[in-house]
Amino acid sequence: MTRTFSMGGVHPSDSKISRGCAIEVLPTPPTVYIQLSQHIGAPAKPLVAVGDSVKVGQPIAEPGGFVSAYIHSSVSGKVKSIAPRKDLAGNNQMCIEITVEGDEWMEGIDTSDTLITDIIDDNKAILDKIRLGGVVGLGGATFPTHVKLSPPPGKKCEMLIINGCECEPYLTSDFRTLLEKGEQVVVGTAIIKQVLGVDKATIGIEDNKPEAIAHINEVLASLRKVSPKFEGIEVMSLMKKYPEGGEKQLIDAVMGRQVASGGLPIDVGAVVQNVATALAVYDAVQKNKPIIDNSVTVTGECFPRQANLLVRVGTPLSYIVDYLGGMPADAAKVISGGPMMGRAIANMDAATLKGTSALLFLTEKQTRREPEGPCIRCGKCAQACPMGLEPFLLNRLARAGKVEELEDNAVQDCIECGCCLYSCPAHIPLLDIIRPAKGQVIGLIRARKAAQAAK
Ligand code: SF4
Ligand code: SF4
Repeated sequence: MTRTFSMGGVHPSDSKISRGCAIEVLPTPPTVYIQLSQHIGAPAKPLVAVGDSVKVGQPIAEPGGFVSAYIHSSVSGKVKSIAPRKDLAGNNQMCIEITVEGDEWMEGIDTSDTLITDIIDDNKAILDKIRLGGVVGLGGATFPTHVKLSPPPGKKCEMLIINGCECEPYLTSDFRTLLEKGEQVVVGTAIIKQVLGVDKATIGIEDNKPEAIAHINEVLASLRKVSPKFEGIEVMSLMKKYPEGGEKQLIDAVMGRQVASGGLPIDVGAVVQNVATALAVYDAVQKNKPIIDNSVTVTGECFPRQANLLVRVGTPLSYIVDYLGGMPADAAKVISGGPMMGRAIANMDAATLKGTSALLFLTEKQTRREPEGPCIRCGKCAQACPMGLEPFLLNRLARAGKVEELEDNAVQDCIECGCCLYSCPAHIPLLDIIRPAKGQVIGLIRARKAAQAAK
């Protein structure tokens, strides 16, 4: 039987209408806007000034703290400004604006297609390359990878899990990466496995991607003949069920272990990385190539041309849309990411980030919400919740402003998957109510910890 997680989940139509679109290189835009805060942690600090010339792959901002990441120029050209600019959500964010001139790369970056399978033994040097390459988790969290690969003392990783589920409807960039860059993903996996000092790595892929499962199995068979470093890596076919790719759900499905409330994957011996992150690790370690581009699915039934594009970081969204034929007249909403967890885009002049995985165009009909009715106490939201929460109760407590009770009922464990909202026959906007309540409770928990630490 195909494995899956043990609690909740839903089965939306996968709508992967761009799955046949090979990754295509988007021409470099005339200007990029590279945001200084595009990872979890402190914003990066600029290393360049207005008027400076930069090359592709040049570090233009350094980490602003322990949990932070380097940012590199995705183009060659001149720094035109370092100033606040509206991001995807319409909030001001410091950006480095670069006017493109030519396409000159930093020396030492290997831009060839040659696959490098030899992995150096020096783990400290590998971690340095990952840090200097500005690698962050590309599965959505954008947590700096070198920090995640350095478990705290006393914590031991037993298994590396590579997340190839791509369980959100519509998204196909990870699927295309598995098909088109499978060798690089597997070498990246072997590098991460070595750094963590684990014997086992599992690449989890949902069973609606049989071509990817077959291809990665072939790649593994051929790479095992090259080096023993590829032993211990296996592919696991997982049930198509949303949110199979949620970190805690994936650990449950693969290892049969549950991460406790407030706990971390490493507490149960797991480290999870996304397929695109494994590729970024390969690029940084084997090719000296920092994150300067990433694959973005551009999709939606109303969009003129489906695509998976390799996009330079900092590319304006409007440039991508124009390249593919312009904004469809009937597009009512554009989402960054998938329909379940993605966020509505408020500003099409905003630029892509390292973690931008998709642009999804939806019509008025697709986004229309039915009028909200009263809760009929059917319990469907609780059955669907993969975190074992009671969304109907959280909804009631949030509306009543009962913050302490929200914490007692673990609102902070909500992964914002939207399964409750998807399942509710009364069309109650559960996630819209629960998300800000969760933010409030997390703020309180942090303030309490800070006060305790100051004593
Ligand atoms: S959004 Fe939160 S409360 Fe709703 S199903 Fe997902 S984890 Fe549960
Ligand atoms: S699914 Fe909706 S109607 Fe049913 S219990 Fe939950 S909130 Fe109430």
